[in-house]
Amino acid sequence: MLNSKPLIKELKKALTPENVLTTVEECYAYAQDAANTRKIKNIPDAVVFVKTVEEVQRVIKNAARYKIPVICRGAGTNVVGACRVEHGGIILNFSKMNKILDINPENMTARVQPGVILGDLQQAVEDVGLFYPPDPSNLKVSTIGGSIAQASGGAKTFKYGSTKDYVLDLQVVTAQGKILRTGSNTVKNATGYNLSSLFIGSEGTLGVVTEATLKLIPKPEAKKVLMAYFDTVETAIQAVNMIIALRIFPATIDFMDKNAIQTVEKFYPAGLLCDKDCALVIEIDGFECAIPYQQNIIENILKKCKASQIQISHNDEEYDRIWTARRSSMGACAKLKPNVTTDDVIVPRENLAKLVRGIRKICDKYDLTACLVGHVGDGSVHPQIPINYNDEDEYRRYKLAKAEIYNLTAKLGGILSGEHGIGADKREHISQVINSVAIDYMRMIKKTFDPDNILNPYKIF
Ligand SMILES: Cc1cc2nc3c(=O)[nH]c(=O)nc-3n(C[C@H](O)[C@H](O)[C@H](O)COP(=O)(O)OP(=O)(O)OC[C@H]3O[C@@H](n4cnc5c(N)ncnc54)[C@H](O)[C@@H]3O)c2cc1C
Repeated sequence: MLNSKPLIKELKKALTPENVLTTVEECYAYAQDAANTRKIKNIPDAVVFVKTVEEVQRVIKNAARYKIPVICRGAGTNVVGACRVEHGGIILNFSKMNKILDINPENMTARVQPGVILGDLQQAVEDVGLFYPPDPSNLKVSTIGGSIAQASGGAKTFKYGSTKDYVLDLQVVTAQGKILRTGSNTVKNATGYNLSSLFIGSEGTLGVVTEATLKLIPKPEAKKVLMAYFDTVETAIQAVNMIIALRIFPATIDFMDKNAIQTVEKFYPAGLLCDKDCALVIEIDGFECAIPYQQNIIENILKKCKASQIQISHNDEEYDRIWTARRSSMGACAKLKPNVTTDDVIVPRENLAKLVRGIRKICDKYDLTACLVGHVGDGSVHPQIPINYNDEDEYRRYKLAKAEIYNLTAKLGGILSGEHGIGADKREHISQVINSVAIDYMRMIKKTFDPDNILNPYKIF
């Protein structure tokens, strides 16, 4: 057990005392994140709120001196235990380091602090006719720092790509407390290794992001969402394949199965049709004049694939109603049992129907109810499984089902995360889908950046 008392004493001197929380009650609140996948066994020794890069440097230099782990935290909404406290340490909380420093319409860039809420940035750039597409379903609470560290995607990845495609430059505090810049303020950069990419998805294990310069694109002039219902998964996936085959690129092609539709409708009524097997949520965007053209082609495909009903948004209210319903699935599932798990498996699109069918079979076999949602345009499925961790038998069945879902995903040529990351929850499974040489190189990278293993230890590997 590491003794963090001398470090906490130093931190109270180095920072404003009210920004260093140390009571058991306060620390308990930061032991878990939205993964909430097991009972709390360890709590942090302190929770530290930082506002400036200098404060971050002070914390890291002191932590390095005493070799005490530092776990960065944005909103704590990751779903893989990426900021769970495994063996004590300091939580470095970014919720007060949350300024949009600059939006530059000429360069089409935004410079932000890590604690900025994603939805706030999106609103601010849209106000000047620009667009930042990464949109995890919880964008109203999750932070830029967390989305960079988890390589977040979201519904619009299908057309616009994920966080990886929008980071131009990061300011990072290293495990030694030095300041590193990973990129540049330019649109292109072929000057040396791509260090920005290395930090995106690194889950706070390589360095602490203290500022990000993000690429923006023009805001689409118009958008519309269609919700198409199907009687079988096969016909829904056939529609996805036909849309892609015609090289129509909607902004999103998302999916909800019967369980997800019924659960959302039960807790957040939105007029969804509960007697259907599944639905696609398809957003089209672009110039106003191009919307009817895309809508016409997509509606024809949906009808050819026997869509039994299509709901179309005609105004902002209807658009928000459909999207709120799709984004509420995890919250609705959480009302079914004391805990809810969400996973994030992704396969090449050609194997999507097999994956969905397989997950349903596995959950039936283990007597679990899965609400399936996902960004099926990308090949990704999020099985959301409500369970009670205090029910030992149910927890055992959940673990068996999870392992089988990963085996199936690997067999279908997929990987264990398209956008949620690995964190603590999936680390024991990572070798199923990543070659051992690649894992060795990842470990060497970790050792190079963080030789004393103080940055978010026990994650990813
Ligand atoms: C209901 C719900 C829906 C979701 N839907 C999606 C979705 O559609 N797509 C998707 O991609 N994700 C989704 N997620 C996952 C989640 O949104 C992302 O993982 C999120 O971006 C995490 O942001 P956060 O601020 O909560 O980060 P946190 O959970 O606080 O932290 C996440 C990781 O980032 C690290 N970190 C945080 N700040 C920094 C920093 N400044 N420097 C270095 N490391 C840092 C932490 O140590 C941790 O490893 C969903 C989650 C929920 C709860």
